[in-house]
This record gives sequence, structure tokens and C-alpha cells, in this order.
Amino acid sequence: MYDWSVDASAGSMITGLSDLSAPGNSGRETTLTRPHWQPGEVIEVIDQTPDAVTLRLRLPEPTEFLPGQYYNVRLAAAGRTRPVQRSYSVSSSPFPDASVIDLGIREIPDGLVSPRLVRGLSSGDRVDVRGPAGRFTWTEADGGPLLLVGAGSGVVPLVSIVRYAAASALTIPMRLVCSSVNFESALYREDLARLADSCGWLEVVQSFTRDPDDLRAGHHRRVDRAMLAEALDGQFPRWVYLCGPPLMVEATGNWLVDLGVDPGAIRCEKYD
Ligand SMILES: Cc1cc2nc3c(=O)[nH]c(=O)nc-3n(C[C@H](O)[C@H](O)[C@H](O)COP(=O)(O)OP(=O)(O)OC[C@H]3O[C@@H](n4cnc5c(N)ncnc54)[C@H](O)[C@@H]3O)c2cc1C
Repeated sequence: MYDWSVDASAGSMITGLSDLSAPGNSGRETTLTRPHWQPGEVIEVIDQTPDAVTLRLRLPEPTEFLPGQYYNVRLAAAGRTRPVQRSYSVSSSPFPDASVIDLGIREIPDGLVSPRLVRGLSSGDRVDVRGPAGRFTWTEADGGPLLLVGAGSGVVPLVSIVRYAAASALTIPMRLVCSSVNFESALYREDLARLADSCGWLEVVQSFTRDPDDLRAGHHRRVDRAMLAEALDGQFPRWVYLCGPPLMVEATGNWLVDLGVDPGAIRCEKYD
């Protein structure tokens, strides 16, 4: 049986099941001053899936960030007087080098910003970013074990958490449940499989919602109560991190509470 009981040191408790990207929450901030816009240099665009890339940026003014945080990106848009901005989570670990950040970006067809970031950039280009931002964060000071549940691009900040733990040689148990349409669209699938192979504290469970015959997935449906009960395995992690579309995050949080998880142990980020 997976041992959730290891390393369960206490972290800061957040009251209620809450969206940690919402202003006024009781989570942590990394910076006291408001970060300003800076021109990130694209040093690599790495294909992840047919519709998603990792945008690797070098920041002229690097700022410490915490695993799970995001950056805002702004672009000029035809017919608009002001640039449009969107948020993208960091998939890389802040340790050992926070001056280069990886943003995991999936193209939303007909979207204003994501298609231009996924298809329109190459090495040497510059893109305005501001950050870090967000209170959906984890470090070893928070303790574990962790259950991480991500749907679609919601897996991105969870990958940062896992990579940070690996880069820091931590051994806090983590179980990561990733829900994707199919094998080809599963973000960071290969990196996560490699990490799970080499890190005994990490288990990665894939679910492919639209490919019932693909045996490389442990499940073939959207995240549901039964899947969460199996992931909990009769025990309660110190923290649960949920990230993805709002409806998925809300339903998952409610099922977990129904299964006996303390609402104060659930941290959420909704990709509105
Ligand atoms: C805190 C935070 C972190 C985020 N991190 C990431 C990340 O790491 N990677 C990532 O790819 N995205 C992330 N997002 C979502 C991202 O900010 C944009 O919303 C997304 O890229 C769509 O922007 P767009 O300009 O291309 O589409 P828009 O022009 O804003 O939207 C076009 C149409 O698509 C719909 N739409 C918007 N988003 C989605 C969606 N996710 N799924 C289906 N339909 C949608 C809209 O309702 C609209 O009808 C994050 C959002 C938040 C709030």
C-alpha cells in the first residue's frame, strides 16, 4: 500500500475549499512589491503535444518564484487599444535556476492569445511577462504527503511542484492524477513517467477520457468520485492540490470532502 503517513509535517492551514488565485485569500505571497512587466527572451519553444508547447524564457530581471505559481503574458492585439493579457503557470522548478522559466501553454482554438504563443514564437523573440503571481504553491515547509489532481493544462503547476521536489532531492510522497483527452494530448507525459521511474516517492496515474482502448492509462474517464477514492486509498494526504477548468475543480473538491478530506487541506487553482 502507498504510504501517505511519511513526512506529514504541518504546513499553513487554509480555511475552507478555496480558489487560491482569488484575491484576498489567506495564502502566502513571495514578493511584497507588485512585479512589473519585463521582456522575456524566448530561448526555446518545445513541442509537448500537437497543440501545446513549453515556452522557455530567460528573464532579464529574475525573481524567486514558488512551485505552482504563474506569470502573466501580454500581447498587442489588432483593433484593441490595450494589450491583452493571460496567465500561464510555470512548469519548471525554481531550483536551481529561477532566471529561466518554462511556461506550459495549450492552444485554445480561436483564442486571442494562446494560438500566437503556441505557433507564433521562436528563439530570440521577446514576450512581455509579469510575475510571479498566485498562492497555489507548495514547498517542503508545507509538508506532505500530497495528492495532486490536474485536468488538461491544469497539470502544468503540478509538474513544477513535482520537478521542484525531485530537484531538491525531497522524498515526500506524492501521487499525481492527470486527466487528458488521450495519450497524445497528455502534457509532460514522458517527463512524468521518467520521474516516476526514478523517484520512489512519486506515483503518476494517467486517465484518458476519450480513448477507452489505450492500456497506457490507468483510467479511461473524467475524474470522478470513484477515481478519487482509489487515489486516496483509504488514507488522507496532508494536502490536495486541484487544478483545471472551474467545473472540474469544484466537482473534484466536493467529491473529496464527501470522501472525508478536510476542506482546509484542499488547495485549488481554476483556469477560468
Ligand atoms: C491562474 C491561471 C493559470 C493558467 N495557466 C495556464 C497554463 O499553464 N496553461 C494554459 O494553457 N492555460 C493556462 N491558463 C488559461 C489561460 O490563461 C487562457 O485563459 C487560455 O490560454 C485561453 O486564452 P486565449 O486568449 O487563447 O483564449 P480566449 O480568447 O480568452 O478564449 C477563446 C474562447 O475559448 C474559451 N476558453 C478559454 N479558455 C479555455 C480553456 N482552458 N478550455 C476551453 N475553452 C476555453 C473561452 O471561453 C472563449 O470562448 C491559466 C489561467 C489562469 C486563470
